[in-house]
Amino acid sequence: KVQTNILGFSFSKWGMKDTVDYVVSYLHKDRAEFPHTVHIVTANPEIVMTGLENQELAQAMHTADLITPDGTGIVWAAEHLGDPMPERVAGYDMLHEIAKTSNERPFSVFLLGANEEVNSKAANQLAKQYPHVTVVGRRNGYFDDSQEPEIFDEINALKPDLLLVALGFPKQELWIQRYKQQLQAKVAIGVGGSFDVLAG
Ligand code: UDP
Repeated sequence: KVQTNILGFSFSKWGMKDTVDYVVSYLHKDRAEFPHTVHIVTANPEIVMTGLENQELAQAMHTADLITPDGTGIVWAAEHLGDPMPERVAGYDMLHEIAKTSNERPFSVFLLGANEEVNSKAANQLAKQYPHVTVVGRRNGYFDDSQEPEIFDEINALKPDLLLVALGFPKQELWIQRYKQQLQAKVAIGVGGSFDVLAG
């Protein structure tokens, strides 16, 4: 069994290495080979609790390709349910582990979310720390509904291998869910406050 059910949500039982291998394998595929952008949810107990009340978030989680245990609370719950997971797979750590693989196989990324200063600094940091990650575009996370088509078009014109979405939950999960069928990014990950940490 490769998944642990926690309050109705199927969490991946992969540790960091297997999770990163899975994500990276898609970064180097042709987007035309799979029907929708691979959606990764990194879920902490807060997201799970919100998902129990918010139908849209629950739907986004059920249809995501992978839910990783972002938090010791999730790992603890799995242990308690008698269906343990090897380790915590947090969004911020995963982002770095994925970025590290660029030294062997370069890839491109688009950063969507956080305020303009944080977004810009996070993009610079990523490019500086990982010279083989090409930041093809970025956009802050403060926009209204009327600007969404333009953002979607911009991302699709750039066709990033990886789309990092930092709009906070559940906004980021709903955004990815809404667009993933037509989105030309290969993998999209909701990364919460990761740009803030990256920006320092
Ligand atoms: N954020 C954003 N647009 C919004 C709301 C939030 O870009 O409309 C960004 C915010 O600036 C921060 C990130 O989302 O960089 C994560 O926010 P928060 O710390 O609330 O994350 P959570 O822990 O809720 O995922």
